[in-house]
Amino acid sequence: PEEKPAYLLQESDIAEVLVPRSPDSHKGSHGTIGIVTGCSDMAGAALMAAHGAVRSGAGKVFLRVPAQTAPYCIGRQPEIMVRGVGQGEYFTEADAVSVLDECAAWSVIAMGPGMGRHEETKAFVKAILAHGECPVVLDADALNLLAGEKDFVSSLDRQVIMTPHLAEFSRLSGLSVAEIQEDPFAAAVQFVKEWRVTLVLKGAPTLVVSAKTGNVYVNPTGNAGMACGGMGDILTGMIAAISARESRPDICSAACAGVYLHGAAGDACRRQIGSYGFTPMEVADAVPGVIRRME
Ligand code: AMP
Ligand code: MG
Repeated sequence: PEEKPAYLLQESDIAEVLVPRSPDSHKGSHGTIGIVTGCSDMAGAALMAAHGAVRSGAGKVFLRVPAQTAPYCIGRQPEIMVRGVGQGEYFTEADAVSVLDECAAWSVIAMGPGMGRHEETKAFVKAILAHGECPVVLDADALNLLAGEKDFVSSLDRQVIMTPHLAEFSRLSGLSVAEIQEDPFAAAVQFVKEWRVTLVLKGAPTLVVSAKTGNVYVNPTGNAGMACGGMGDILTGMIAAISARESRPDICSAACAGVYLHGAAGDACRRQIGSYGFTPMEVADAVPGVIRRME
């Protein structure tokens, strides 16, 4: 099959997405981000995703976690509005009702970081996906849970962004890691055709494939200092927040901008701290400075 050329992202591509805020804008203008994720032994992932959204300029960030995770999350980051859902340590299908009640008011939903892989949580994720129209960013365990659900996902009537790393992409696509590495471009393009989602295949480099056009974008930013747990959780929140910006960018542009800024923030951390030991939260905290430099 004929392969389209891949496009190397550059800073000018991101500028289009990061237009200055209208001077008279209010928090409602900048997106209401619903982060629905976490379980009792991975509360940090939920907080990191929420913080990635906050540092990317989100108007409001709601974090919804399983009830037993909530005490760890509440008050950690005062700007994040946290509520526990249901009663358990992880989400179950019955918990979807109360989330669906409020998510009609959200601009975007992000699910997956630290969500756990319980079978009951899969039913929860599918119930959230099946109702509503706003875009959804799926990462981590939401992806692990949806492996084998190609028919369900491809028939959804909403925009979906998936952000797997190599192992998650292997589970989703059914290809071995070796098969993907042999030709990541072809694997990513084929996946997008079949699943009808915008794909962020994370790695060095990260590829973004548009669901609408099938175009492939290659990200030049980022470094090996980012190879540490939690980095991807920050990215999930960033992409969610950017997709809900005032200018309402196209979903693929939002994914590209998120990936580019996330890597550029990691590069800023490496310059300041060195390649060893900067944290995901520090990468998120570097995002505003990177945006300021580009504005
Ligand atoms: P995750 O595995 O979900 O935590 O995601 C890791 C994040 O860090 C992704 O956005 C990767 O692109 C990024 N990352 C990890 N290792 C590297 C690397 N060696 N070079 C560039 N980016 C990386
Ligand atoms: Mg991850």
